Amino acid sequence: KKIAIAIDGPAAAGKSTVAKIVAEELSYIYIDTGAMYRALTLKALNHHIDLEDETALVELLLHTKIELQKNGKNQIVLLDEQDVTIDVRSQHVTNNVSYVAKLPAIREELVNRQQQLASHRGVVMDGRDIGTRVLPDAEVKIYLIATVEERAKRRYEENKRRGIPSSMEQLIKEIEERDRIDSERDASPLVKAENAIEVDTTAMSINEVAQFILDAASK
Ligand code: C5P
Repeated sequence: KKIAIAIDGPAAAGKSTVAKIVAEELSYIYIDTGAMYRALTLKALNHHIDLEDETALVELLLHTKIELQKNGKNQIVLLDEQDVTIDVRSQHVTNNVSYVAKLPAIREELVNRQQQLASHRGVVMDGRDIGTRVLPDAEVKIYLIATVEERAKRRYEENKRRGIPSSMEQLIKEIEERDRIDSERDASPLVKAENAIEVDTTAMSINEVAQFILDAASK
């Protein structure tokens, strides 16, 4: 029987990496909800829209097409038909996305779109509010955590592989700041769903975490 798997947790906890593996293993679709907030943020920055102007941002979102397409083992992000997969990961977008994501009207519209994308079972979705808000009926809910040092280290290695220079100190600051905004907002803050399984991945490999989720999904 096909189910829905919700994976939430703080920034850089490895959610998308393991979500992709789990989806691939089960032949499920994978939906990266963070990419949707990032795509809107990228467009708003490009259009020089004030990120505190909720009305302007909603207006922009209503005229924005965001698509997530599978491309081999990876996923590409299309913003108004343009491939922005790389651009949505930029430092500029990362530093600003949480201000856009805390606006209730933006969340309402994006949550609606996410629920439509997941209307068929056989889905792995990752984000901050999947177990609590987007898919409250998900059969499996996972809350991934790791120490901030470990999360920064993983992000550092990932940047290095991509040829992006970064500093550990700066990554720790950025991750902590984003977690703070995501946890303190009023609209669906980052919090473990009551019935989610918390997994501390600090000392686990990617494959161990993926296997843990696959085991939970097979029960
Ligand atoms: O997961 P990712 O780091 O790409 O998410 C970027 C940002 O988007 C998060 O820091 C958060 O502000 C927002 N987000 C959210 N709800 C989600 C997914 C992402 O608020 N379901």
